[in-house]
Amino acid sequence: MTEAPLPDRLARAITLAGPMPVSQFMAAANAHYYATRDPFGARGDFVTAPEISQMFGELIGLWCADLWDRAGRPEVAWVELGPGRGTLAADALRAMAKAGLVPAVHFVETSPVLRAAQTERVPGATWHDGVETLPTDAALLVVANEFFDALPIRQLVRRGEGWHERLVACQDTLFLPIAGKAVPVELLPEPLRDAPAGSVLEISPASVAVMQALGRRIAAQGGAMLAVDYGYEGPALGETLQAVRGHGFANPFETPGDNDLSAHVDFTTLAAAAQAAGAVAWGPVTQRDLLGGLGIDGRATALARHAPERTEAILADRARLMGEMGMLFKALAVTHHDWPTPAAFGA
Ligand code: SAH
Repeated sequence: MTEAPLPDRLARAITLAGPMPVSQFMAAANAHYYATRDPFGARGDFVTAPEISQMFGELIGLWCADLWDRAGRPEVAWVELGPGRGTLAADALRAMAKAGLVPAVHFVETSPVLRAAQTERVPGATWHDGVETLPTDAALLVVANEFFDALPIRQLVRRGEGWHERLVACQDTLFLPIAGKAVPVELLPEPLRDAPAGSVLEISPASVAVMQALGRRIAAQGGAMLAVDYGYEGPALGETLQAVRGHGFANPFETPGDNDLSAHVDFTTLAAAAQAAGAVAWGPVTQRDLLGGLGIDGRATALARHAPERTEAILADRARLMGEMGMLFKALAVTHHDWPTPAAFGA
């Protein structure tokens, strides 16, 4: 028997058990979305930095290799969370190899379609469903680009005297957000508890759990992490849950599983989670400062020298990574206490 389409399954679940938290809806929608397609590129739904230019992955590889070198060249496992097509990994591994770092590669990826794409670009990697099974016998160098924004968020809505969890209800075949039961005010950061009616606060316990687990591992095993995403320095009010399809915005509650759901990342909360787990957090710095600090200009010049006919395209890619996107996207670094200051995060 073939499985019913995701919207039908979600509608049935809501009919049987009542409206579900936004986080549950988002988790189900994204799991289906990524499991059933390769969404990247001009003909897909969106384009990510590593798909714009090889410079992005190469510079991140250099960031890793430089830190590893200055940490005394320990045994490391290289980890990527949500590697997409594997493009960043292939570019980073090539740059790391040139710097003398050839680590074992571990991918945290749940989508079978994307695992297959990653195998093509990076044969010999080991795949994981979550961070719990990552190796425990080496320092970890962890990279994540546009991973945390895909993890589920809860939305809390201010109504009258209190805060309520936003739930997704279903009427006929339409999904719509409603205010659910009241939540304890302790769930909210203190300065935001008295926000005006209608305010929305997003929290991502799933992201915090991943960061806590990796912070603990880095504190115990040594290593570092670099997370790049669009986001803000929280706590902040505002609704950022968005749906993207065919390079345009869609309604996040419509056609679940057929558009990419994401939310802006609260870097302050992620940094605090890493610190509480015993690691050191750095930044966030803008993607523009990260790539500038790692030498994107020199890299662009070198690439153009090798392929003069591509000069214009290389400069356009550089401008795209460093322009509006370079200000919107930010990078957070996490290190073991005894590891040196990561490049581009110094004073
Ligand atoms: N880093 C890539 C892809 C970003 S899209 C790039 O920059 O191009 C998000 C990636 O995270 C996809 O590979 C998706 O399959 C994966 N992903 C999303 N939710 C996940 C989860 N809960 N666990 C593991 N991987 C997940």
